[in-house]
Parts: sequence; C-alpha cells; structure tokens
Amino acid sequence: MQKYIRNFSIIAHIDHGKSTLSKKIIQICTKKKINNKESIIDSMDLEKEKGITIKSHSVNLKFKYKKKIYHLNLIDTPGHTDFSFEVFRSLHACEGALLLIDATKGIQAQTLANFYVAKKLNLEIIPIINKIDISYVNTKSIETQIIDILKYKKKQIFYCSAKTGKGIKKIIKNIIHKIKPPVGYINKPLQAIIIDSYFNNYIGTVFFIKIINGFLKKNNKIKISNNKHIFNIEYIFLKKPKKIITDILLCGEIGWIVCKTKKTNYRFIGEIITSNKNKEFKKQIKFKQQTPQIYVSIYPLNNTNFYYFKKSLEKLILNDPSIQIKPEQSTLLGYGFRCGFLGLLHIEITKERLLREYNLDILITPPNVVYKIKNKKNKILYISNPEKIPNKHEIKKIKEPIAICNIICPHQYIGKIISMCNQKRGIQKDLIFFKNYVLLKYEIPISEIITNFSDTLKCISNGYASFNYVFLKFKTTNIFILEVLINYKKIKQLTTLIHQNNIKKYSENLIKTLKNNINKHQFNIVIQIVCNNKIIKSINIKSFRKNVISKCYGGDVSRKKKLLYKQKKGKQKMKKFGNVSLNKDIFFKIIKLNK
Ligand code: GDP
Ligand code: MG
Repeated sequence: MQKYIRNFSIIAHIDHGKSTLSKKIIQICTKKKINNKESIIDSMDLEKEKGITIKSHSVNLKFKYKKKIYHLNLIDTPGHTDFSFEVFRSLHACEGALLLIDATKGIQAQTLANFYVAKKLNLEIIPIINKIDISYVNTKSIETQIIDILKYKKKQIFYCSAKTGKGIKKIIKNIIHKIKPPVGYINKPLQAIIIDSYFNNYIGTVFFIKIINGFLKKNNKIKISNNKHIFNIEYIFLKKPKKIITDILLCGEIGWIVCKTKKTNYRFIGEIITSNKNKEFKKQIKFKQQTPQIYVSIYPLNNTNFYYFKKSLEKLILNDPSIQIKPEQSTLLGYGFRCGFLGLLHIEITKERLLREYNLDILITPPNVVYKIKNKKNKILYISNPEKIPNKHEIKKIKEPIAICNIICPHQYIGKIISMCNQKRGIQKDLIFFKNYVLLKYEIPISEIITNFSDTLKCISNGYASFNYVFLKFKTTNIFILEVLINYKKIKQLTTLIHQNNIKKYSENLIKTLKNNINKHQFNIVIQIVCNNKIIKSINIKSFRKNVISKCYGGDVSRKKKLLYKQKKGKQKMKKFGNVSLNKDIFFKIIKLNK
C-alpha cells in the first residue's frame, strides 16, 4: 500500500556519519546484530578500504509502527563534492531527506550544497545533529547554526548518535510522520525513472528505478527513449540489504530490474521507462548528466586490446554517468579516450575502479579545465585537450573558467583562508559573519581549485574549513601556453595553458618530475620548457655509458680510440632517431605537480 511507503536519502558533508546511521537504521529494522566494523552499506572494496562512500546505496526496510508495517526505503549517499551527481539522482527517488550534521564540526560546505538541492526538489528535510555521544560537543552552537542558516525552528531539530543508536528510533518515527508517501497513481500507465544502473557480465544491465505511476511485473516489456530500446524484464529484486527477488514493483516503490541487454554504449540514467503498450510516447528525460569540471586523456597500458578497453569504460560509465568520454587518437600514446570528470578524487577513484573491476591498467594525462579560445577568425573553441590547442599566432583571446566558491570556517582561520584565496587568484564576493563561524564567497579560477585547493584549506584550518564550488563564467586572464620539448621534439600531451603567476613554480616542478622519471638512455636527453617562444627551462639527462673497450686487452691505443669513436657516432644516430621512452605513470605524477 502506497501510503505506507517512505522513500528518503541520508545527505551530509563527508564523514558526518551517513553510512553509520544507515547501518544503525538497518540494524533496528532488521533486528539483526551487525558488527561495528562490518560495512554493509559501502559494498565496493574501494569504499571499505578508503572509508568513503562513492556510490549511493539503497536498502528496502520494514518497520512496525502502531500495528502497521511501513516500507522504509533508505538511500545512503556519498558526501564528497566529486560524487554530488549521485546525491542529486538519489534525491529524485525520494520524498524526504535526513540532513545529518556532525556535532563536532557543524554545518559544512557540502551540508549546504546538498540541503539546497533537496530543497529545490521540494523534499521534506529533517535536520539531525549526529555524534552526540562525544563528550565535548556543544550541540547548542550547532543548533544556532541550523536555526541561523537553514532557518529551522529548534523543535524541528533531532539529535542522535549513529554509533550508540541513541535517538534513532525517534527519528524513524518522525520519518513516518513527516515524510510524505510517494504521490502517483497505480492505475495510470507505467512511468518509472531510471536513477542508477550497472552492468553485470552474467545478467546484463541492471537498472535502479522508482515507479512514478502504474506498476511493473516480471516478464513485462518496457521501452525507453522513444522506442529506441525495448527490453524484457527478466527479474526484479530489492535489497534488504541482501538481494531478495520479487515479482512486482508498485507505484511509489524503488527497486532493481534486470533486463537481458548487453548494450553498454547508451546512457539510460535520468530517462523515463514506460510500458511497451503505451502508444503516445515521447522521449522523456528527467535529468541530464552533470557538466564535467576537468578533463584528462586515458590510454590503456600494457598493450591492452582497445575494444576491451572501450567496453570496460562504457560499462563503468553505466554505473557512473558523471564521466563523459570521447574517443581520441594520439601520436605518442595510440588510441584512447578524452574523459571529463567532476574532480581529482573522481579521477583517482575511476583509475582504481578500472584496475580492480576490469583489470585495466591505464595511463592518465595531466588534468585540464576547459578554456574558451577565440581564434583570429573570431571562431569560439572550447578546448580542454592540450593537443588541440591552436598555434599561438592563431589565437586572439583565451578565457579560463571561474567558479563561485563557498567556504565555511570558524572565525579564527579567516585570515589564513583569505590569504590563501588571494594566492589562488580569488576575488572576494561576500563575507558573512555568524556567531562562531564565517561564510566566505569567492570567485576562483577552476584551474586553481583542482590543484590541491581542498588539501591546503583542510591543512590551514586543521580540518575545520570546508568548501564547495560551481562553475560561474569564463573570464580573460593572463594565460600562456607552456610546451615541453624532449630532444627537440614537442610532447603535445604535456602542453598546458597556465596563468602567468604559476609559470615559474610549475615549470620548475615539471622539469624536476620529468628528470626523475625519465630513465637514462644510451644517448643524452635534453628537456626544454618553452613559453612565449622562449626557452624558460632546460635540463640534460646524461647517457649511461657502456664500456665498449672492456673486452680490449692491452693492444694498441688506436684500437680503443676506434671503438670509442664508433660508440660516439652510434650515440649521435640514436639521439636523432632513438625514442625516449617515458615512464608509465609519469603523467599521473605530473597531476600532483602543483602541490
Ligand atoms: P559518512 O562519510 O557520512 O558516511 O560517514 P561515516 O558513517 O563513514 O562516519 C565517519 C566517521 O564518523 C566514522 O569513523 C564513524 O565511526 C564516525 N561516526 C559516525 N557516527 C558517529 C557517532 O554517532 N558518534 C561517534 N563518536 N562517531 C561516529
Ligand atoms: Mg558514507
């Protein structure tokens, strides 16, 4: 019965206790004891190891209240801004959200960002202060924050310890009272939205869906995207949290459907499913992909078959639709993909996932933001790939992307943070003082944010400051093209666009990294960095010397000379034609250069 369904997500800044709370709610509803160390929500090995949630996870639970059985469908979400698309999609399956706030940290940037997304979707939001078991916490000051910033009344705020379980039953009861059951009509034609998907080699494509209207049964035929795709539902399952097969999904319910399709090259997420019988069908999309902030090129290593690489990447994207891919070809690296990501952590996690889930070792080029370039013919180009940067003399203007950045921090760190933002070429837009913390608004170039902004911020504020950012505009700044020549050959993949202020530091670090990561060859290697038609840095890597005269016992000096002369000639030839082999993760090392 629809009126007993409650769909809700748990949202918060990273580490505020979402997964711990989810686990506790599961424990209460299933009445099973779960070991404190056991991670039942974060199911990927990578999540367990790193202790962070990367994917949203749903659980279908039951709770008896006033002699009625309620169906509580919970979605645990990731807290890191790089995975915000997961949160956004999860919220589309819900009527409510638990906004968790760590009592030791208070409201942080991602708390706010997620709060506004949930509010925009008109969800019932329940603010909860977590970790009240910690003795030194001052819940009063957190209450004030929630009242000041989020505009809640004191009586609307809940308190809990996800660790000990205190206060959680009261929250569950409040979920039942406050969060509305899903709207929609069971007797209307089928309409369901695809929230998530993944690919399984044995069973095919699996969709996580919410039924908006109607219902769905095993063996039903469904269609997506204007008849483009018609699938048969092989089976339906729920997660409780173990997989339980079921025959039907009713209006308002969320669950998983398995279709025997091996199609991997189509993005289904955000689209609406209808019944095959439905004649008046228009292509409907509820939400689109998020625009990536940074781009890198990815190439398979160790002679991996390109077809396998492409298929693996497509399968991964079925599960992470915030990655954008486009095939490309590089003279140096062969066939690969240009890929857009939401942030550096997102790239690192993807690299790890490709290795673990698909046994794919990949090479990643340094990240770039998208530049808006006007050429001499007044044509506008959006360029994120250094290899595609036009020649200097063809460029009229280069604009770089700027983000609006919200930083929340306690008063005492404000000085340090302002000077850091200035260093990062930030322009202050607002400074709002609350009782014991400050909200700073800055316009900062995205290229400065993707190079260790978050780490520095954490470091100078002892972990108390947090930030989030969204793209705002393109702006003309002093951007230059920096090129790298190895043995007088331009390495296009290492070309970057860089602001004047950062040239010196970047080129020093770059040349050091290159020097340390290029093995000695049998000939000398010259590395040069060129900016504005000038060589601004140059370095030599001396050849290793093979002892060609070791086998020469005694004998005439002229024989030794002859051998050495032959070696010298050979080296000259090698220098001209020999290829400098670049170490396989040299590009990944360069990612971290500006640190
Ligand atoms: P998430 O990133 O929001 O999912 O946070 P986690 O659930 O992974 O929790 C982050 C850390 O906070 C973990 O070390 C938890 O053990 C700890 N934690 C979560 N809830 C509580 C709580 O109520 N009390 C205490 N003392 N620690 C908690
Ligand atoms: Mg988590």
